[in-house]
Amino acid sequence: MPRSFPIASIKGTAVRLHWTFVLVLALITLIVLISNGALAAAQVFLLVSLVFVCVVLHEFGHITVARQFGIETPEVILLPMGGLAKLQRIPSDPRQELAIAIAGPAVNFALFALLILFLGRWPDWGTLAGLAQGEINFVEQLAIFNLVVGLFNLLPAFPMDGGRIFRALLAFAMPHHKATRIAARVGQALAVVLGVVGLMAGNVVLAAIAVFVFLAATSEANLEKIRHAIGGTPVRNVMVTGQAQFLVTDHIGKAADAILASDNEEFPVLELDGRLAGFVLRADVLESIGDAGPEASICTIMRTDLPVVSLQHRAEKVAETIAGGAPIVGVIDSRGRFAGLVNWRNLLDALAIDEALRQQHRNRQTRFPL
Ligand SMILES: [Zn+2]
Repeated sequence: MPRSFPIASIKGTAVRLHWTFVLVLALITLIVLISNGALAAAQVFLLVSLVFVCVVLHEFGHITVARQFGIETPEVILLPMGGLAKLQRIPSDPRQELAIAIAGPAVNFALFALLILFLGRWPDWGTLAGLAQGEINFVEQLAIFNLVVGLFNLLPAFPMDGGRIFRALLAFAMPHHKATRIAARVGQALAVVLGVVGLMAGNVVLAAIAVFVFLAATSEANLEKIRHAIGGTPVRNVMVTGQAQFLVTDHIGKAADAILASDNEEFPVLELDGRLAGFVLRADVLESIGDAGPEASICTIMRTDLPVVSLQHRAEKVAETIAGGAPIVGVIDSRGRFAGLVNWRNLLDALAIDEALRQQHRNRQTRFPL
């Protein structure tokens, strides 16, 4: 996900702010500045910043437990609706998934308890209404925020932590793909309920969350289908080949020409000896060609941080990596030369083909019982 910038790096995890988050923070501060003056604006700015410190702590709850299982998290992105920790992979062992998923809300409940101890009493819910009038009460409002976020995340729907907790609990009693199918269905049903309630109450935020939850449940179900149906095949069977290739000595203009000539989104960049150096993405080319000009070296926009696997890798691992947030996974041969790449779209294509072939096979069996 581009258009975010790093603000800190903690134990190998880059914390990045998405531009929409910066925009929302600036807008809120500006509105309070105009209506209530500079002091109130500074207070609101500080309160929102502290809220997002809590969000980061929640994400690092997940990250710390994931690290215990040998799963690294290259980055966390802060969006207006919350944090997004991009784990390298989601473990298929339900005990591990359960522990990682619970750790996030657990941080919020721990923060709630600490803030309540500090406050010395149960929070007054009316303090939230006071917020609209510019009344700031940091400890109390942060305590309520942590309680609400902790509880909201326990809703049994992807991408909330509750969806993962629910799936992990089901997976103790049934195969993983079945558990995911049920958890995804429940998530979709919950999203529809949220959406209807949101629309009837005229609550745009709730309706937006409902759409988000529905899409997340669908994508989680697709990932599990991929794992189950084509996960065991070597990555060479599902990768795309044949896209235009560039050399590190090429310039951006050549990439722009290739974009016009094809509908590929990603292109490999090779060293002069044929080894894979990195990738350029269509979006990056379109964004940079105006500023940098067609004569700029392709290396200025080349991405070298995208995951790369060898031909023998199983499709399942690649699907997990892409579901974890990588736009593509590169595939190289034993000598480091570019062999192909895998993206979400072609994984879904491979899945659709697999399903069609299975269906055809079943049809044949029913049509010709002898
Ligand atoms: Zn979480």
